[in-house]
Amino acid sequence: MLQTKTLIFGGGLTGLSTAYHLDKRAQTRPELGDWLLIERDERLGGLTRTEIIRGYHFDHTGHWLHLRHPEMKAFVHDVMGDDMMMVARKSRIWSHGALTHFPFQQNLHGLPLDVVHECLMGAIEAAIREAQAPIDATNFKDFCLQRFGKGITDRFMVPYNTKLWGCEPEEITADWCTRFLPKPNLSQITAGALGIVDDQAGYNAHFTYPNQGGIEAFASRIAGHLPLSKVKLSTTPVAIDFARKQCTLSNGEVVQYEHLVSSIPLPELLKLAKDLPDAVVDAASKLRCTSLRYLNYGIKRANVMDDIQWLYVPENKYPFYRIGSFSNAVASLAPANSSSLYVEVANNMNPTDDEVKASVRAFLRDHDWLGDDAEVEVEEVRHIKYGYVVFDKHYFAAKECLLPYLRGQGVQSLGRYGAWVYASMEDALMDGFQFAQGL
Ligand SMILES: Cc1cc2nc3c(=O)[nH]c(=O)nc-3n(C[C@H](O)[C@H](O)[C@H](O)COP(=O)(O)OP(=O)(O)OC[C@H]3O[C@@H](n4cnc5c(N)ncnc54)[C@H](O)[C@@H]3O)c2cc1C
Repeated sequence: MLQTKTLIFGGGLTGLSTAYHLDKRAQTRPELGDWLLIERDERLGGLTRTEIIRGYHFDHTGHWLHLRHPEMKAFVHDVMGDDMMMVARKSRIWSHGALTHFPFQQNLHGLPLDVVHECLMGAIEAAIREAQAPIDATNFKDFCLQRFGKGITDRFMVPYNTKLWGCEPEEITADWCTRFLPKPNLSQITAGALGIVDDQAGYNAHFTYPNQGGIEAFASRIAGHLPLSKVKLSTTPVAIDFARKQCTLSNGEVVQYEHLVSSIPLPELLKLAKDLPDAVVDAASKLRCTSLRYLNYGIKRANVMDDIQWLYVPENKYPFYRIGSFSNAVASLAPANSSSLYVEVANNMNPTDDEVKASVRAFLRDHDWLGDDAEVEVEEVRHIKYGYVVFDKHYFAAKECLLPYLRGQGVQSLGRYGAWVYASMEDALMDGFQFAQGL
């Protein structure tokens, strides 16, 4: 039987950060360096891997690193040195036949005047109501109506979020959006309607990214610090005995551990354990998540989408909700005079792959961003099984049952899918750091 102090499931950023920071701490407490990482795939990095096809670099849709915490800024600098660049966001929205700035609610200028009028009046009415009584919303649509008013809700928030989440905005709560949804006040909305652009709105006005190699260059640099002898690739846990703190692996080995850090999706972790209490089984059955279908495009043409890095497409006549250009953000992500793009398919529609492809090509042509079909050198469809955790009415109760139960069994379930959250790469790094600091 193998023995380890800390057994880590998953070699995405959460698992990598956990291992990295345990090794850092082992400089003064050598026993913390006793860890073993189990990764299902043959390559580390999880969602932060980069596929290279005919010289085009494709992350698993846009993966831009936004750093808020000084400890994580220092970590990224320790790992990457000067091999990171800072990029200013250039995102737009395509709606009602107009290209407007992000976010919609703060940049109504350029939309047809009747739409601007409707959105502005709704925002004014909402602000008057909010001044009289604080927002008290039970679901995301209700929150948008109370915070932004009817126009912005109907014209953008509902159609866009229905495509993203794959369900009606009444089915989800507003809790996911505290950090990620810009909430301009009436003065900012009015300024935006008049054409005064505030490019700093939102959490992601700037981001960092590796100079070369795509986002995987970052995961690979962290992995480069870890001894390969402590990493098992192409291996999965197949059974866990929480009481004995033993885990059986797909290669037949059994591992005795003291702490278990799991960053694999929470439902997958729970399936590995036997004899779970009924309440835990019930809570696990309530976890909901969207899957993601997206397409990669390699196009032999410079600056497809002009200088736009990603474009939100809320309207239902398009079967996708966002198109991004990797190479408009970081030129090294496509060969010279070429562009690498991704397209995220709407979750509330069920178009065939061919319908999406035809629609994307037509959309690009309509904007003069694509000429002859021969320009398309790569066009492929990919899937992410666990995409966005759905914050429905069962979300908090289910998590309040599951995570404390697991902690009681000596298991820390961390990361975007381990902790079952709407979280960023920095959050994943932070989870690993905090676990190591806590030992
Ligand atoms: C479409 C999309 C776009 C995103 N864009 C951004 C962005 O622009 N900026 C940003 O900061 N964040 C972004 N994120 C979030 C970011 O990707 C995640 O927060 C972060 O990468 C999560 O890291 P993780 O290690 O927790 O999970 P993962 O990267 O999912 O890693 C989990 C690892 O566990 C492995 N695994 C799974 N099951 C098993 C098993 N049974 N046994 C062993 N191993 C297993 C997987 O192979 C994987 O390597 C995005 C997420 C998505 C889905």
